[in-house]
Amino acid sequence: MKRRKTDRSEHGSQFPPKRRSLSKTTHLLVAMGDKLMDEKRLEQALHHVVKTGVQLTRSIQGTLRLLDDTGTRLLTSARFGPSVHSRGAPAFKVGEGFIGWVVVHNSPAYINNARSDPRFVHRKGQRWTPTGLMAAPLVSADKCIGVLSVARNDDKRYSRLDLDILLLIGQLSVPHLEIARLRRLNESDPLTLLHNRRHIDTRLPAEIHRARRSGRPLSAAMLDIDHFKRVNDTFGHEAGDQVLCAVSDRMRMASRSSDILARVGGEEFLAVFPDTNSRQGVRVAERIRAGLCSSPVHTTAGPVEVTISAGVATLRKSDDEKSLIRRADQALYEAKRKGRNKVVVRARN
Ligand code: GH3
Ligand code: MG
Ligand code: MG
Repeated sequence: MKRRKTDRSEHGSQFPPKRRSLSKTTHLLVAMGDKLMDEKRLEQALHHVVKTGVQLTRSIQGTLRLLDDTGTRLLTSARFGPSVHSRGAPAFKVGEGFIGWVVVHNSPAYINNARSDPRFVHRKGQRWTPTGLMAAPLVSADKCIGVLSVARNDDKRYSRLDLDILLLIGQLSVPHLEIARLRRLNESDPLTLLHNRRHIDTRLPAEIHRARRSGRPLSAAMLDIDHFKRVNDTFGHEAGDQVLCAVSDRMRMASRSSDILARVGGEEFLAVFPDTNSRQGVRVAERIRAGLCSSPVHTTAGPVEVTISAGVATLRKSDDEKSLIRRADQALYEAKRKGRNKVVVRARN
């Protein structure tokens, strides 16, 4: 057992591998299998699956996407390397782009000329264009549950062997990925794909515990769309739903990947900012607020002007999750009272 560990760490440090040897490949696959066995660290295991895919195919970036419960959108579940899309980019729809094509056809594929391949779509929020792209569907009980993809931007080419390796990694991980997918769906809001309250109920106490242990600050913001009832009344419920999705996307865009964003009510959101003091928390909330009112949201019923109010609170010694949220809530109501489209910080109890 001990010996295997030593071997693995040796190979784990060789990144990116210059050549692919059978022993390196098997070592990396065995290490990945071991990680997947640890259910409690499933999120890290997913990250490791992507990393293994990137290493063994000599890519620079990889993403694992899992299908949502409607079977129409692909949620990003893990990523390794510089992402092609910015954080706020909307979820891929089944059938959209090269990744969507792989899901629809339930067939692995690679391209070495992404720029000129008609299946590759340039999307809003795209940071760079890969030269090569490769994707393998993740199939469980004959159903596609997601897709594992890797990308590169050098002049090397993907081969059938690369694709087989990616497929193998995907197939080895599928039972664990299905658990992760169900867990994730259980803790996601189906409309906006943000986290839901169930996720917050377990995540916030854990983050508070972590902040206490590390002595790092933690802030939280409650956000509520202003006069949202009017949006529904004027533009219809469907446009209202589109506004909720757009607000969520803009919130993602304005925050860091370590921030936790949840939809906790109809048009109410909770943002948890780890490692963030009061001043920084206000700054992020202000960025979200300003980003929202800077341009209208385009809906099928026309452009809709949207504003949001926010209340920020920062963790104190005496706080538990309830008192922290309560203070953020009180600050939010103060923002509403003061005329909306504002950020208020709760300075005192
Ligand atoms: P305030 O500025 O005080 O927050 O006013 P408001 O109109 O936003 O607040 P209020 O709580 O009175 O109304 C919230 C509205 O949000 C009422 C409800 O119709 C709408 N809503 C709640 N959930 C959804 C949803 O999932 N989709 C849509 N389209 N509307 C929703
Ligand atoms: Mg409201
Ligand atoms: Mg409300």
